Amino acid sequence: MLRRDIFVTTADAVVIGGGVIGTSIAYRLAEENRKVILIEKEEIGSKTSGSCDKAIFLQSKKPGFPSELAKASRAVYENLEDELDFSFEFKRGGGMIVVQSEKYLPFMEDFVEKQKQAGIDIQLLDKKEAIDQQPILSKNIVGSTYSNEDAEVNPLLLSQAFADASRRKGVEIRTHTEAVDVSIENGKVVGVKTAKEYISTEIVVNAAGPFAPQIGDMADVNTPIQPRRGVILISEKVTPVVKGNILCSQYLAAKHLTEEAPAFGIGLSLGQTDDGNLLIGASREFKSLVLSQITGWMTIFDNEVPHLAL
Ligand SMILES: Cc1cc2nc3c(=O)[nH]c(=O)nc-3n(C[C@H](O)[C@H](O)[C@H](O)COP(=O)(O)OP(=O)(O)OC[C@H]3O[C@@H](n4cnc5c(N)ncnc54)[C@H](O)[C@@H]3O)c2cc1C
Repeated sequence: MLRRDIFVTTADAVVIGGGVIGTSIAYRLAEENRKVILIEKEEIGSKTSGSCDKAIFLQSKKPGFPSELAKASRAVYENLEDELDFSFEFKRGGGMIVVQSEKYLPFMEDFVEKQKQAGIDIQLLDKKEAIDQQPILSKNIVGSTYSNEDAEVNPLLLSQAFADASRRKGVEIRTHTEAVDVSIENGKVVGVKTAKEYISTEIVVNAAGPFAPQIGDMADVNTPIQPRRGVILISEKVTPVVKGNILCSQYLAAKHLTEEAPAFGIGLSLGQTDDGNLLIGASREFKSLVLSQITGWMTIFDNEVPHLAL
């Protein structure tokens, strides 16, 4: 029984979550002339999609399904700014994974071979070639991978771009609106409840990211997603010092070698927005980073670069 002050409406589809996944799905659903309502409990892009690095990295993905998915995703970006009529700082800037010391070299050589076999355009650069490509790298590094297929995007702008384009296609976006229940009848979804509204619909898209299991529970659907905390530091605006995106071999090891990863230490990721903010991130598994760890990463950069001195 609905309260009398609850507003009732209908939609062909309700998308729960206004991150990059929810906004892009809403946009694609609206292209098919569906009436779509997107509900977001905070602001567009205010959770994971607004707290992440800016890498569209092909070379870091595991061969097989993750790599094929990443290639398809990368291809979508080629004309996306024109399609959405929104500049989100897409750049074909290339990407590097820095080999910080000899002990990571066998793993990285093996990794590069496997990525080549998977069809990724990737090379292993020696120290000089790596520093020529990225002059801020320290003279103490061993080398680096390089792939010109990697690209970058401003993640804060990307969700906004999809949200704006969705609105133009007729999607109703309700921010500060939380899905509090999903109604089921005879085993099928029939609606979504918020504090003020009941939306009758046959399609509910669970795009709640790390909160997806909570939405799944509302519909008695087991959603086996385990959140891993990530960390990102955003610097003040500084002059351009980073070309493309940089990861380091520990970051990659944390992604590919779940068991052995802790022995490789904490990985760094680094990119820079058009406005000059450095996005300084780390491998996902590690929590509670302290300043000494962050300064440790910076040994892969030239100590004479004052911008990165913490
Ligand atoms: C530190 C870090 C760095 C990263 N770097 C990269 C990178 O360089 N490249 C890359 O491709 N990926 C990167 N990622 C991964 C990427 O950020 C995520 O895969 C992506 O943002 C997930 O988007 P999402 O829409 O699924 O989730 P989210 O952005 O978290 O969106 C889910 C939304 O659902 C909303 N919500 C939850 N519950 C409800 C409810 N009951 N009702 C209404 N709304 C609700 C939340 O408020 C939230 O806005 C990174 C992640 C982290 C943490």
